[in-house]
Amino acid sequence: MHFARFPRLNFAHLPTPLEPMPTLSKVLGGPNLWIKRDDCTGLAGGGNKTRKLEFLLADALNQGADCIITQGATQSNHVRQTAAIATKLSLRCYALLEDRTGSKEQDYNSNGNVLLDRILGCSVSKVPADTDMNAAMEEIAQQLRDDGKKPYIIPGGGSNPIGALGYANAALELLTQANNMGLKIDHLVHATGSAGTQAGLITGLRATNSHIPLLGIGVRAPKDLQEANVFKLAERTADLLSVPGVVRREDVVANCEYVGGGYGVPTDSMLEAVNLLAQTEAILLDPVYSGKGMAGFIDLIRQGHFSGQENLVFLHTGGAQALSGYRAIFEAD
Ligand SMILES: *Cc1c(COP(=O)(O)O)cnc(C)c1O
Repeated sequence: MHFARFPRLNFAHLPTPLEPMPTLSKVLGGPNLWIKRDDCTGLAGGGNKTRKLEFLLADALNQGADCIITQGATQSNHVRQTAAIATKLSLRCYALLEDRTGSKEQDYNSNGNVLLDRILGCSVSKVPADTDMNAAMEEIAQQLRDDGKKPYIIPGGGSNPIGALGYANAALELLTQANNMGLKIDHLVHATGSAGTQAGLITGLRATNSHIPLLGIGVRAPKDLQEANVFKLAERTADLLSVPGVVRREDVVANCEYVGGGYGVPTDSMLEAVNLLAQTEAILLDPVYSGKGMAGFIDLIRQGHFSGQENLVFLHTGGAQALSGYRAIFEAD
């Protein structure tokens, strides 16, 4: 893999820290727990979308784009990070926010990431659940083209092969850090949604023959669909990187037992995980992704899924900016 072949902008704060979690390890009485801090990528709050956007925005500028269109759920971290970099590059950003949860809470609908989108100068439109988001983005793009503009569409979560390059590269970054620290990583775990993070990571981990198993904790789709989505995108990412076929179907593993009532719907184990990480390691997770991912990670540790001497790394994908959108559930807790 040679990432310098691809156009890229450099605005993420990299490398992100790889830190031990001694207090959490002690509280859980189990394996050695580490955290890779991709919540610290630095773009108006940071998060995992920033690595993808370094490649996506470079592609947009190469194509002569003068505005960006993207989409996500109401409390999308992807939309916030896209709005931030678009603004920084003087590109207008149009975002469609899908009402995926049906929540009527005022905080959910206008606080957290929604508030930040507006402060960042993004044009936000809300659309009902189950809208055909790609068609809706194309409609806006056509209107803009009719007005003589050059829109660039970024898919939900920035999850296409260009965006996934950011996480294939993150696999290299993590390996380099671990090698320099003498840290043998036995498992890597993270929250998986629109699939770009897991697809990129597994491509990078496989192309380097790292032999580090990767586990995605699902936040929306059932296991079969999530794994199929990740595998399809990993195959396309490997093709783009000129390492075709490097990812095998069995390398793609998702555990989707921690979704609860649906995407963005709180669960008790998510609440426990968010409070526990805050009160042991002073690390802020989020209710939609990293909180449910950590809930799954904690449950698997408690079940003895990992052995006591192993080094486990949790990739923190960010999202704490959504916490104030969920104020009521944390106050009730
Ligand atoms: C988008 C997101 C994820 C999931 O990443 P995908 O690449 O969409 O699978 C995980 N955590 C947070 C905080 C996110 O915003």
